[in-house]
Amino acid sequence: MRHTDYTRQAAIHFIRARAGGLSSFDVRHNVPYLFAFRVAELLAQFVVCYTVLKMSTFTPAEFAALYAGFEAPISALNCGERCAPHNEHGVPFCCDIRHAVPTAYQAEWEYLQQNSDLWRLWQPQDEGASAELLDQVPEGQVLIACRGHLACQRSFRSLTCRAFPFFPYVTVGGEFIGLSYYWEYEDRCWVVSNLRVVDPLYLAEFVATFDALFERLPEEREVFRYFSSRMRRLFGRRHRAIPLLHRNGGYYRVTPRNGRLRRVDPQKLPRFGVYKIAAAMPFPDE
Ligand code: SF4
Ligand code: SF4
Repeated sequence: MRHTDYTRQAAIHFIRARAGGLSSFDVRHNVPYLFAFRVAELLAQFVVCYTVLKMSTFTPAEFAALYAGFEAPISALNCGERCAPHNEHGVPFCCDIRHAVPTAYQAEWEYLQQNSDLWRLWQPQDEGASAELLDQVPEGQVLIACRGHLACQRSFRSLTCRAFPFFPYVTVGGEFIGLSYYWEYEDRCWVVSNLRVVDPLYLAEFVATFDALFERLPEEREVFRYFSSRMRRLFGRRHRAIPLLHRNGGYYRVTPRNGRLRRVDPQKLPRFGVYKIAAAMPFPDE
């Protein structure tokens, strides 16, 4: 499959335009789901990433098994309580419909409809930006909106909810070696600035879920290999190492140019945005 084909077959799709606040537009997508992020002014700055997932090969009932194997919280801490104060709406960024509109595969959407009242189809609030967002939705997926973080039903979170902010990092040679994160959220997602808090059980379930997906859908591994290569190119240009939560449980920096892994103390991984500022304060948890 050529990489350009991903744009037509994308099933996980993440577009993002940064501005902060309500007036730019983000569509984020990665694994079996897509989040569309709406932040208004900066449509011209869209960043689009694609993945392919032929979810038609899954049935709605099979999503129950996928969900059951990926229930562990990302951390013992409630990360939403850490990031929400930095959102002007007081809501965790990845649960704020004004920032993010999730997508679901058709079979996933059918499963959610049959078993929960948590989700509805996302309705555009305005023309223009909304139309552009809708244009980005891959065939076979729908944009969905939940009832909000105060009404979250954890067992019916979409796969996107469960994976965020991570995606499966795949080497040049096609090996799924661990998790890295959607770098577009470095400044907003508290977890990205605190990778040391990721629970080992979460890591294990993430790895097991994607191992299962890749076994059934080998082409999906290629999608993430392509996505990982984009990260390597971008970080290479910025002379940055890629943070990696290795599937062996260790923390590493990946040298983008040659893929070399160097084990690191997770306490020394970088922080970003307000979380970097807070960490430098005398009482960083306040
Ligand atoms: S995953 Fe990141 S953005 Fe989502 S609630 Fe946790 S800290 Fe906030
Ligand atoms: S389902 Fe829950 S975790 Fe997912 S976006 Fe809604 S409130 Fe957030």
